[in-house]
Amino acid sequence: MTLDEAAARPIPSADELEGRWTLVPNPNPATDKERRTALAHPGFGTQFTDHMARASYRNGSWTDRRIESYGPLALDPAAAVLHYGQEIFEGLKAYRHDDGGIWTFRPSYNAHRFNASARRLAMPELDPEDFLASLVGLVRADRDWVPEGEGTSLYLRPYAFASEPFLGVRAARELEYLVIASPSGAYFTGGLSPIDVWVTRQYHRAGPGGMGAAKTGGNYASSLLAKEEMAKSGFDEVCFLDAASAQIIDELGGMNVFVVRADGSVATPALSGTILAGGTRSAILTLLRDRGIKASETAIRLSDLIADIESGDVVEMFACGTAAVVTPIGRLAGDDFDVSLEAGDITRSIHAELTDIQLGRATDRHGWNYRLV
Ligand SMILES: *Cc1c(COP(=O)(O)O)cnc(C)c1O
Repeated sequence: MTLDEAAARPIPSADELEGRWTLVPNPNPATDKERRTALAHPGFGTQFTDHMARASYRNGSWTDRRIESYGPLALDPAAAVLHYGQEIFEGLKAYRHDDGGIWTFRPSYNAHRFNASARRLAMPELDPEDFLASLVGLVRADRDWVPEGEGTSLYLRPYAFASEPFLGVRAARELEYLVIASPSGAYFTGGLSPIDVWVTRQYHRAGPGGMGAAKTGGNYASSLLAKEEMAKSGFDEVCFLDAASAQIIDELGGMNVFVVRADGSVATPALSGTILAGGTRSAILTLLRDRGIKASETAIRLSDLIADIESGDVVEMFACGTAAVVTPIGRLAGDDFDVSLEAGDITRSIHAELTDIQLGRATDRHGWNYRLV
């Protein structure tokens, strides 16, 4: 079963899931003033709510599901994650809709992807309903932390890691699952402003048979040096090529990429096993196909892409992911090329269509929105 198929199956309502995680209220929550100050300038990923969801994996099952005070973790210095990096994560957003509800977008896609990542990292899976219930419990406890206003949301970060104190090399038997929440403004400040992307031949984030299709910190660790080096030359993001041939476009360190052709068709790299199956990527493919646009998942050869941009056959490129939604790529450069693109109609209209659905302003034809509160 694909992630899209898994995510399309019916799921219990938030009211049905309420209470599955036990709320232990924070005795010292932020004051109204502190919270209002935080929400006035949310930024991204720097401020956190009063609570976090948490469960522990012991003796072969997840136990002790609770919503507790946000705060530092006590971790044994031998915890396996600190040595061997056994960790996975997810990212979703909760939005305030005009109907007064707080909604999120395709949470069961993330629940099933979380389990796909868990399998690759030899970690125990979490019942998708438990994953959903952890989001419901946390957002209901911290509903006052969901910001209002254009481009804002409460970013939800579920993750799990090996906490077992053990230096031997094997899959851990003790793990922790957490969800933390962070009020966030627009990811890239300045709205739909194009980013400059460097295509690296020097570094790879993932290789055949590796962890590229899993959402795990290790892939990010692998991408940081390239990003640091190119930031010095003014590039916003790095695009990675497939490690086997260094000729096929994979993705950015944390976003999938799309190419728009002058004939109106669209292409995105196929899920080759080395890239992450983005939920935003999947939703955009569906919206494009709903419009009757030919949207293919295929190998995109860098040399062809550059030639097509130069000849005008490729007219737009954009990156996509939960945090930034859709971001136009204005410049694509590498060792021996440097080309520019405009933010065109497809990029702009798909961004508008997707965010309108996510914010409850357009008809949710595919039943993607899920009411948390
Ligand atoms: C999370 C992530 C994406 C985007 O996935 P979404 O589900 O759209 O947020 C793309 N690439 C990588 C490597 C990621 O970790």
